[in-house]
Amino acid sequence: MPDPLEVLRRVFGFEAFRGHQRAAIDAVVRGQDTLVLMPTGAGKSLCYQVPALVRPGAAVVVSPLIALMQDQVAALVQNGVRAAALNSAMDGRERVRVERALRQGRLDLVYVAPERFAAPGFLDMLDGAPLALFAIDEAHCVSQWGHDFRPDYRRLAVLAERFPGVPRIALTATADAETRADIARELRLEEAQRFVSGFDRPNIRYTVKPRRERIRQLLAFLAGRRGEAGIVYCMTRNRVEKVAEELNRAGVPALAYHAGMEAGERTGAQARFVASDDGVMVATVAFGMGIDKPDVRFVAHLDLPKSLEAYYQETGRAGRDGLPAEAWMLHGPGDAAQLGRFIDESEAPDEQKRVERAKLEALIGYAEAATCRRRILLGYFGDECEPCGNCDICLDPPELFDGTEAAQMALSAIYRTGQRFGGGHIVDVLRGRETERVQRLRHDRLPTFGVGRERRVSEWRSIIRQLTAAELVVVERLEGFSVLRLGPDARAVLRGERKVQLRLEKREPGPARQGRERRERGPAGTAADREGFEALRALRRELAQGKPPYVVFHDSVLIAMLDRRPATLEEMAEVPGVGAAKLRSYGAAFLEALRALPPPAED
Ligand code: ADP
Ligand code: ZN
Repeated sequence: MPDPLEVLRRVFGFEAFRGHQRAAIDAVVRGQDTLVLMPTGAGKSLCYQVPALVRPGAAVVVSPLIALMQDQVAALVQNGVRAAALNSAMDGRERVRVERALRQGRLDLVYVAPERFAAPGFLDMLDGAPLALFAIDEAHCVSQWGHDFRPDYRRLAVLAERFPGVPRIALTATADAETRADIARELRLEEAQRFVSGFDRPNIRYTVKPRRERIRQLLAFLAGRRGEAGIVYCMTRNRVEKVAEELNRAGVPALAYHAGMEAGERTGAQARFVASDDGVMVATVAFGMGIDKPDVRFVAHLDLPKSLEAYYQETGRAGRDGLPAEAWMLHGPGDAAQLGRFIDESEAPDEQKRVERAKLEALIGYAEAATCRRRILLGYFGDECEPCGNCDICLDPPELFDGTEAAQMALSAIYRTGQRFGGGHIVDVLRGRETERVQRLRHDRLPTFGVGRERRVSEWRSIIRQLTAAELVVVERLEGFSVLRLGPDARAVLRGERKVQLRLEKREPGPARQGRERRERGPAGTAADREGFEALRALRRELAQGKPPYVVFHDSVLIAMLDRRPATLEEMAEVPGVGAAKLRSYGAAFLEALRALPPPAED
């Protein structure tokens, strides 16, 4: 059998394995069942692709999305691997052709949609084929707890009995304990070797900002990111369409994606995004699972996501190539209340609602954090870390102030108005605004009326959000509205027995300053670098002939070429990511493009 490291170098052009890759590969090669939990971008695919090439026979890879399958097959074929797909999007004749190749041992990998396992005769067909292994990708789809539940995944339990001699490897990026337990049970992998990686994605910078105006803030954020691909998540379909429209009007070409669109339109938009170098996709969470685009440079959330798990998955789509990437989120006062309402109004059993409420609180804790965001995020998944130096809090620590008095004012305004009003009215009372409602309810006669005049509306909003995060205030539903009530510890604050530290609300820098911050990082620093990068990208687009450009080379490979400036094919072969097959197909073209560039700046 060939050596895994030799396969990694020759076929994929990488120098060394990362993290648990080698250990997981060795287990599968030995014929052991294996469960791999690694964050998105850590390199799960190689954990089954390398054994597929080392062990005799073909690897059968179960993968939930047909669109994704095609891209993976295309990328493997570029590397000279004999890969194919089997799914319902193919016509019968094509399927027969692939199945014959599989039985005759002419394939290394075949990607299969889970529905196939329900097709009559499919397992019998597999019986007749030489099989190296089964890989079950996105294995959390088997779990009802996950948001991606796919009933067809349950059928995969049969593989254990039916193919006892074929090792099975299940892979997922979803970390929580329930899902893990479900995967092991449902897929009969209780005895499997487990490889669990740290969940940190150090190249992603996490930022949360208070939301004022979605579009204006988003445009300022995008201003420093021209030429980069990214995803903008919104909570509703309406908002997706509106935001995409406004971006296009402002001269930022943007695509839209949500479940309300025609299937054809959706696949079209997704394909255009994946094939672009700099596309901006505005989408609901319907867009995402299995978007295997390595060069997504940012993921922006204009609304709170559903949970920290969902957030981690969604932001994990940024920077899979390991280059600097950004997770940027706006957080508005109404978000938590709205999500709370969804939970209250759902038909779910109480136990599940309780779990969901706890998840919502963790999310608010993250959004309102005054300490390292990564620490909170990893802590939620049971990992620890030092302050990371790559989140908004570490980079620009918030100033804290003794907010006891401000907290007392807000809590007292909530209490004296009867714990029946939302944040808007409470802020009106604090700031002494004589609105129609204030007058009708005679809230202008309360002792708290106008005590908080000297603070801006946004400051009071921020204070109330922080009090909510600290559970001094709780948001509840009353007759269809969100109202603020006192939390259990609020009395201690009102009585002066407990002090409250609050974060000072910062004013946002204008687009100019954000642009400057930006220029200090990013894949290619100087203008000359940038120009070289663009030239290589243009060549890549041409060579891709309509396929996603990264199928030719990832951004990280182009950057490595610019760094090393290989002058010969031998030197080109040394560039990480350039394997033997790609060297043959593209090496000469890229050498020529590099030769045409001005020499690199000395520094
Ligand atoms: P996952 O499925 O875990 O999200 P992928 O398998 O898509 O991650 O890999 C993410 C990126 O990392 C890909 O661009 C892949 O080529 C790259 N990669 C994976 N393993 C290695 C390695 N050992 N050396 C260099 N690059 C790697
Ligand atoms: Zn940090």
